[in-house]
Amino acid sequence: MKFKLIYTISILFIIFGPKGFAGTKESKAVSRLDELNPAKVWVFILAGQSNMAGRGKLEAQDTITTSRILSLDKDGKIIQAKEPLNFYENKMQGTGCGLAFGKELLNYIPKDVSILILQTAVGGSSINQWIKNSKHREIQLFSNFKEKVDLGKRYGTIKAILWHQGESDAKPEGVQQRRGKLKILFGMFRNAVGNDSLPILMGELGSYSKTPELFSQMNEQTRLYSASDRFTSVIFTSDFQHRGDFLHFNSASQREMGKRFAREYNRVFGVKKPVVVLTFDDGSVTHYTNVAPLLKKYGFTATFFVCDYPRKPGIAAVKNITWEQIQALDSMGFEIGNHTGHHKGVGKLTESQLRDEIKYIEDKCKEYGIVKPVSFAYPGNRSDSLSRVVLKNMGYKFARVGGSRYFNPNNDKKFLIPSYTMTDKLDNKTIQALKELKSGQILVFTIHEVPDPDHENYTTSPELLEKYLKFMHDNHFEVIAMRDLETK
Ligand SMILES: [Zn+2]
Repeated sequence: MKFKLIYTISILFIIFGPKGFAGTKESKAVSRLDELNPAKVWVFILAGQSNMAGRGKLEAQDTITTSRILSLDKDGKIIQAKEPLNFYENKMQGTGCGLAFGKELLNYIPKDVSILILQTAVGGSSINQWIKNSKHREIQLFSNFKEKVDLGKRYGTIKAILWHQGESDAKPEGVQQRRGKLKILFGMFRNAVGNDSLPILMGELGSYSKTPELFSQMNEQTRLYSASDRFTSVIFTSDFQHRGDFLHFNSASQREMGKRFAREYNRVFGVKKPVVVLTFDDGSVTHYTNVAPLLKKYGFTATFFVCDYPRKPGIAAVKNITWEQIQALDSMGFEIGNHTGHHKGVGKLTESQLRDEIKYIEDKCKEYGIVKPVSFAYPGNRSDSLSRVVLKNMGYKFARVGGSRYFNPNNDKKFLIPSYTMTDKLDNKTIQALKELKSGQILVFTIHEVPDPDHENYTTSPELLEKYLKFMHDNHFEVIAMRDLETK
């Protein structure tokens, strides 16, 4: 009973605010407030300067509210959020990223969770002013932030801070001090919230500046800082448009920024991570000499689809991996998969020939004490119905083809797992596939020799492979072998 009474009082407090029970008019705006349960409210704090405060032209869609996205009005009462969320700077208020962030995030969070967005950004503020708690445009920056933290904690759980700032500091000195200042301020933010691992998402400065060199140096420092703080992440903004002043994002870009923040939050800090399956084909010695050390460096695993590839002796620059080397890969924890004994297209084989080709690899594995393969890659990525039946009967669980699309375990068959080919020539396609991969989605890569000087269409240089591995590492991807799909 006592709990119920306290709960009732606190609900009244939420509805009417600390000033008393006078504000009945406003309370109508939030019909679900009487159902708000602090355990089901996720709080996000916006901080920084004008591009986080919002300067986009207000458009109709920016004012469409929904019951699960909440914010404050200028009197500190909770309302259904609509742009502008900033009420500090009279006449400068415009569309920001907050509402769009909330709307996108609804796609990823439990249905009974509401989002409370608290705005603390003030245009023109420098990072030093935040650190020193300066008064700027009538707002004591850090004290105001702390007030919002306290309020957020009362109504729910503070899940992350969205930070966009740096235009005011885009000077040589500001660039030089950027990382150190971010470290100090983010330490203060986390201390105020009482969570050392509180996620902080940062947005890049726009690419259209009149001093693009300094802006890009600031962005570089932001990314370097993020690499040293694993509870941060950075969203790119290089394609954003300004509203005509070469300084402020227009409202379309603000809405896109909100979406990117939401996707990034989910991707990096959400329950499910994006998954990449790395597979290497054709039993090349480069897999042992170049690939395995890189994978170890980033703590990733992978599948090596081996075969005794019929390379022309004395002509091919790339040599076959030896069975001793394959054995070593197996001992290191990598998966050894079956790519047929001699890289035979499965459609051209009779059933018994196909069985012999599959068994060839299994016998070799047995001879070298390697785990019996459960994953298969069709040579030339061509499959047929007979091979799928044979593979199943021989105890295989997964088989890979091409197709350049993500693998969806709910729709795709496990004997027709699609993959993207990663080569130097397909650099743009590869980076796009990685950037668009969302939480819970699965991207399988097919890679051949690393590198292959004989085949410019198939070669993947070690530098390029490392670039992608680093991207996956920095973006908190889960990188697995094909056999690990069993748990997905
Ligand atoms: Zn092959």
